[in-house]
Amino acid sequence: MDDRAYLVVGAGFSGAVIARKLAEFGFQVICIDKRNHIAGNCHTERDLETNVMEHKYGPHIFNTNDKAVWDYVNSFGDIMPFKNKVIADTDKGMFSMPMNLLTINQFFNTKLTPKTVEAYLKNKQEIIEPPQNFEEQALAFLGQELYDNFFYGYTKKQWGCSPKELPAAILKRLPIRFNYDDNYYNSKYQGIPKNGYTSLIQNILDHKNIKVRLNTTYNKQEKSNYKHVFYTGPIDSYLDCKHGKLGYRTVYFEKEIYTEDYQGNAVVNYCSKDVPYTRIHEHKHFAPWETHNKTIVVKEFSKETLKNDEPYYPKRLLGDMVVLEKYKDELRELKDNVSFVGRLATYRYMDMDKVIKEALEYSDYFLDNYKNKNIDKIFSDDNL
Ligand code: FAD
Ligand code: UDP
Repeated sequence: MDDRAYLVVGAGFSGAVIARKLAEFGFQVICIDKRNHIAGNCHTERDLETNVMEHKYGPHIFNTNDKAVWDYVNSFGDIMPFKNKVIADTDKGMFSMPMNLLTINQFFNTKLTPKTVEAYLKNKQEIIEPPQNFEEQALAFLGQELYDNFFYGYTKKQWGCSPKELPAAILKRLPIRFNYDDNYYNSKYQGIPKNGYTSLIQNILDHKNIKVRLNTTYNKQEKSNYKHVFYTGPIDSYLDCKHGKLGYRTVYFEKEIYTEDYQGNAVVNYCSKDVPYTRIHEHKHFAPWETHNKTIVVKEFSKETLKNDEPYYPKRLLGDMVVLEKYKDELRELKDNVSFVGRLATYRYMDMDKVIKEALEYSDYFLDNYKNKNIDKIFSDDNL
């Protein structure tokens, strides 16, 4: 009898959800992570000096329209209601973000209504059909002044390239509203785990069939010790970057501690190209149900990902996509019982809800194939 365990590489949401599914099916699972903590980039921990819950890799707000995913996370921890309302610091003053009727009226000193705002903006919009990149999309939708003050500088800092080089889809991630709704997200369900994401992911991993090993980097030579490997790390590292490194932006933080309230809001975006950081987070405002006298203030800077940096945002420029296909083609050819799941292994920007949904669906797909004795190495995004 083959009593080898299943190996899950990475203890972020992708790895934890897969490990749990396999464990509930009755398999023995070992989940490793090269870091000294679980939860991947969603990791939260209490700061020792202030006792504030800190989102160590940048703030994470859970938001989804998917009831099944919402029910899933709620079954592993209490989620408190939280609506993200961002303030934009621009060369022309402080405004509400995402762009809404208040932003537009204050910026242009107008008294527009939901009925009149579209016609007003039409005079500002540039006719570009169809918009081919981020800049053209912004000019076609908002015109030059709003683009220059809210998007040009921030986007250049965030992505380290001209907004002309970026896909229009990045701008479409942000809502633009013709009413006074200033919620950053449109999703039906929104919140933040009461005890942080790490506690919630700990609860997912807390199963008698799962063993977690931290500070453990995946070693391909040991692959045959396991029945199947679920790899959630970067796809290019899996093949030692032999076709070149995929482009990622990374972020780094400067943390300061103050007393009382520093900026009066969880997030302030700095849209000017002349301010070196992209945003400032004040972490205690992500937990309005808690009271703290001291406060953690974190400036977020963006830069290119170098050898020892954590990859954050996949750039997905044209050259990256050519390299990605080389990795995928080669890995599809290798018959070595490894599946590639999650944001890094499939090189996509994915919110937490998408990551969870895909991990759940992929596990079902895998287990169905297991029952039919038809297991192959696969990419989660090929099968969904
Ligand atoms: P990860 O969390 O990256 O987990 C992968 C794990 O694999 C890591 O722990 C890593 O250490 C480990 N690993 C990698 N290689 C190896 C190896 N060789 N051996 C062992 N272990 C390895 N989503 C939202 O829904 N809402 C938000 O507000 C939000 N904010 C975000 C803010 C920022 C700044 C960023 C960058 C992302 C944000 N996201 C947000 C997205 C969210 O972080 C991801 O959806 C989620 O982290 C993806 O989970 P994952 O398990 O696929 O990847
Ligand atoms: N963006 C901007 N100004 C802002 C907020 C966002 O220019 O004040 C741009 C930026 O390019 C960003 C994109 O809009 O990458 C999508 O915004 P989102 O908040 O989704 O950014 P993320 O941090 O997830 O990239």
